[in-house]
Amino acid sequence: MSKAAGADPGRPFLRVDVLTIFPGIFESPLRESLLGKAIAAGVLEVAVHDIREHSDDPHRKVDDYAFGGGPGMVMAPGPIVAAAEALGEGPRRVVLLSPAGRRLDQPMVRGLAVAGRLVLICGRYEGVDERVAEVLGAEEVSIGDYVLAGGELAALVVLEAVSRLVPGVLGNEASLAAESFEGEGLLDHPHYTRPREFRGLAVPDVLLSGNHAAIAEWRRRAAMEKTRRNRPDLLA
Ligand code: SAM
Repeated sequence: MSKAAGADPGRPFLRVDVLTIFPGIFESPLRESLLGKAIAAGVLEVAVHDIREHSDDPHRKVDDYAFGGGPGMVMAPGPIVAAAEALGEGPRRVVLLSPAGRRLDQPMVRGLAVAGRLVLICGRYEGVDERVAEVLGAEEVSIGDYVLAGGELAALVVLEAVSRLVPGVLGNEASLAAESFEGEGLLDHPHYTRPREFRGLAVPDVLLSGNHAAIAEWRRRAAMEKTRRNRPDLLA
């Protein structure tokens, strides 16, 4: 399922290949909203590949029992490596989604966004044979300290976080600089829109004052306060 027209060589561009045994999971997210628009505009190209197509097994099996015993099956290295090698040569970063990987954060997202080409490998079952990462030179990446049933939703998290940093994907790129984790690394300040009062809660007066210096100062203090309350680790 390849989703984009050829890229214009003059434009920033990201090509992502996803390896999964559940390609259907990606259909709606790649059609809708930001990702759908970026693909339609040709700034982002995503191809989703079914690992089962690279299985030698007549039943397209991709998992096997764990050496050493224990419950659960392990994704065998052969079909995953064959699927990755079928993508051909060329520079790219290979990401193996795993709860045991390095935890995804905005600096990592920024690095991935300038890679030009990414391969995202989605595990299932008890995970992927350890040799896959070594053979493919893959970086193990976790989206957080919890365990999902598979790497597909994690791959979509990486894909969306990375794609919105590719120039041309977001409508208003100026807003990126003021977001959580950017600049000084604080959380974003609170946002308000109409109505001025909602359920008895009023928008802070300063935001209606038209005084840009005072608004900037209020936002900085509010961002600091929110960071202290919700994520004190970011201030350390
Ligand atoms: N046995 C593994 C462990 O305890 O670390 C969990 C395997 S999990 C059930 C199956 C697959 O889901 C993993 O191979 C990985 O691709 C994906 N996955 C689960 N949680 C994830 C997370 N927090 N970040 C990234 N991928 C995750």
